[in-house]
Amino acid sequence: MRLRINRWTPARRDLIFGRKIKHSLVQPHFVVAGQNVDDPIQGMSGINRQSTDILMQTIESDMKMGLTSHMIFLVMDDQMKDSTASYASDHTSPLHNTVRLLKDRYGDDIVVMTDVCLCTGTDHGHCGIVKEERIENDATVEELVKIGISHAKDGADYISASDMMDGRILRLREELDKHGFHSTGIMSYSVKYASSFYGPFREAADSSPEFGDRKSHQMDVRSGYSEAIMEALTDEKEGADIIMIKPGLPYLDVLRKVADAVNRPMAVYNVSGEYSMVMEGNRDIHKRERIIREIFNAFRRAGADVIVSYHAREAATHGWLE
Ligand SMILES: [Zn+2]
Repeated sequence: MRLRINRWTPARRDLIFGRKIKHSLVQPHFVVAGQNVDDPIQGMSGINRQSTDILMQTIESDMKMGLTSHMIFLVMDDQMKDSTASYASDHTSPLHNTVRLLKDRYGDDIVVMTDVCLCTGTDHGHCGIVKEERIENDATVEELVKIGISHAKDGADYISASDMMDGRILRLREELDKHGFHSTGIMSYSVKYASSFYGPFREAADSSPEFGDRKSHQMDVRSGYSEAIMEALTDEKEGADIIMIKPGLPYLDVLRKVADAVNRPMAVYNVSGEYSMVMEGNRDIHKRERIIREIFNAFRRAGADVIVSYHAREAATHGWLE
């Protein structure tokens, strides 16, 4: 455990300890190969898959509006995928290129979070190494470590472990330290449910499993608080710097319970399915403003220090950030 990680840069301190909504927000992005790519994502109005050149412009405009925390997901072409997601740790990938460019340009004034899981890079779409149609836990963790270290090398502030394998936070922390990345943080998706609210994201990241589902690693939607608290406490003990609950709105009660049980900062992921319900159901921007403000306040009240939300940019554009 390295308690200085969350205090390491001004942007990290604002994200974790700032009291305004604007400090809490993290904008997710989907990066793809190529140039001049700016593809709208079905079901997620206002969110596009972008190549690095366009994404740099998007983030520049976000930064000017005061959005300083960004989460990057790599979306791979099918020909780059294999059974171990090996391209996910390749320093020439669009994600790695983007992270380097962002840290070169903005340094300590930006918080760059990178998604670490296998599902966007495996040809079968699963979050791990598959053997006889089951996900091997420990073999998967070793692949996750390779991806995490590769992101740290290019300057990511936080490795965001979204996979839900057992023991991965401990292994990530051990290897980060071994490689000298003492100031690289880990945001753990500690309590991630096998939810039906992820539909538009899987479309966006092209990460649907080709057989089966994610129920052998993600949390059962029927499970109670003790399971959630145990997951969070375990990750805290293993060295997670931020503990996340995902999805957000259907699990505000879990967020509150876990926030009360752990000492590390809490994050919540306001997921794609929640986002599209708001966007589809509220074409009128004034109505939407009230709804989005209400959602952000609900997350804060339930204990979230960090809010990952596709609404962040619209909120910043119109100044709904106080
Ligand atoms: Zn995954």
